[in-house]
Amino acid sequence: MSTENTTPVVSNFIRSIIDEDLAAGRHTSIVTRFPPEPNGYLHIGHAKSICLNFGLADDYQGNCHLRMDDTNPEKESDEYVRSIQDSIRWLGFHWDGEVRYASDYFDALYGYAVALIGSGHAYVCELTPEEMREYRGSLTQPGRDSPYRNRTVAENLDLFTRMKNGEFPDGSRTLRLKIDMASGNVNLRDPVIYRIRRVHHHRTGDKWCIYPMYDYTHCISDALEGITHSLCTLEFEDHRPLYDWVLDHLDVPCHPRQYEFSRLEMLSTLTSKRKLNALVTEGLVDGWDDPRMPTVEGMRRRGYSPAGIRLFAQRIGISKSANIIDMSVLEGAVRESLESEASRIMAVLDPIKVTLTNYTEGLSASRSAPYHPHHPEFGEREVPIAREIWVERDDFSDAPPKGWQRLTPGGEVRLRYSYVIKCDEVVKDAAGQVIELKCSIDHDTLGKNPEGRKVKGVIHWVSARHAIPAEVRLYDRLFSEPRPDAVRGEDGEYVDFRQFLNPDSLRVITGYLEATALDAAPEARYQFERLGYFVADRYDHQPGKKAVFNRAVGLRDTWSK
Ligand code: ATP
Ligand code: MG
Repeated sequence: MSTENTTPVVSNFIRSIIDEDLAAGRHTSIVTRFPPEPNGYLHIGHAKSICLNFGLADDYQGNCHLRMDDTNPEKESDEYVRSIQDSIRWLGFHWDGEVRYASDYFDALYGYAVALIGSGHAYVCELTPEEMREYRGSLTQPGRDSPYRNRTVAENLDLFTRMKNGEFPDGSRTLRLKIDMASGNVNLRDPVIYRIRRVHHHRTGDKWCIYPMYDYTHCISDALEGITHSLCTLEFEDHRPLYDWVLDHLDVPCHPRQYEFSRLEMLSTLTSKRKLNALVTEGLVDGWDDPRMPTVEGMRRRGYSPAGIRLFAQRIGISKSANIIDMSVLEGAVRESLESEASRIMAVLDPIKVTLTNYTEGLSASRSAPYHPHHPEFGEREVPIAREIWVERDDFSDAPPKGWQRLTPGGEVRLRYSYVIKCDEVVKDAAGQVIELKCSIDHDTLGKNPEGRKVKGVIHWVSARHAIPAEVRLYDRLFSEPRPDAVRGEDGEYVDFRQFLNPDSLRVITGYLEATALDAAPEARYQFERLGYFVADRYDHQPGKKAVFNRAVGLRDTWSK
């Protein structure tokens, strides 16, 4: 298993456990797994788990399986299965062998259930869901035994077979483990392991009308695949005794160990598939891959790089303490990785016209400029100049603050890769808006300093005649509230997270780009000098025809003060 992952290794408690297991000879190599439920697209939280599971397998020359946890047929689909695989590959990881499915084990799981019945460890229960809840007790109250708990093995076997054969209506019976209704751990109070549900399954079709529950399925799937370290998030800590109980009471090939780490929670966004799904189905965003979404496909379309996301995962680390991370940490990691990956070009997004009055009409010249200041292998392109150019509106001020080094009446500035110009005249419209600057070139400043004075400021620009117009999508955070799903109103109830959607999370403008950008391949990432990192939209940018760029991230953190 190999990836392009070159992120340095940072240790954590799970690595220490693996080191010990290998040193003690408990394992000769490791097998991990990533077990998504195909009921939505993967998000940044999953990316953390992916980097952990696949990353460990890479570092220890072990294997990592991809297993679709498809035991809830209502919400699962092949669209999600495909997108999950795409996202993992795009992040730079490879699973060992074929994609696996919990549903591959339905026959085996059924056989193990029969074995548990045979050994007196499972029974068919007829309590209704309400009754079951009532019998379960609470955190402070022990539960009560189901009246069906002491059925004979023969009776249980007969009833379970008939459940499978479709003789009973949905929800009328369950198969439960016989553990301990008085256990302090609610998960051990005779948990349900099978329920009756007549739903079409995306892989097994209508073969089954009974489906196994997650806790039962997961540990057995891990054991059947020879997983050594089964890593999950902390909310499963209380399920570990059940994980172990099931494996201890069955004749399975091995007994994997479960370890828990804290879930990633990102501020200014959401990491719940259910809520992300709501945004999509209610049309509040433009699909699962909307560049504002924290999904892997959204981040990809936004222009984030796999290396940036892996760097982020490495920085936030793996531990058991709260993992609540500001968006600026992700943006910082993305920015850092793009700094060395992205070609530089010039673009003007809020243009103001500059006429170079002493530049001959109709003439044009060009200079070659590198695509990256530190990577000559990125090559060079020609940057043409002509009498009319665009510069950025905020690179001009007629009442500049102290220390201003950009355009101002009478002031000089260098055009990046070109001449020093001087602003001679400001043209305004009737409303007092600056509409044009008339500037003159110092012809003796191409590739050298002007005589007898220093010009410190350098601004970006494009030739009006040579530049191409582009649709530029300026994305910002999806929510204006740091924890959109954790705000409570005066009544103590949670406020609907939709209220905190940032109304300015997308602004679409026309910008002017160096012509080379028109030929960019979809998903090519650039730094627009002095403006930020942008990507040619994966779907809407058409090389040679139509330029569409998305802003991935600015050059500086503009959110935190
Ligand atoms: P959601 O609540 O968004 O549906 P989930 O945990 O139910 O999340 P799964 O598809 O079951 O989603 O997750 C697959 C794997 O990814 C699990 O091992 C889970 O622990 C891990 N995972 C999911 N969300 C996060 C997160 N926010 N941080 C770290 N790991 C996560
Ligand atoms: Mg889950």
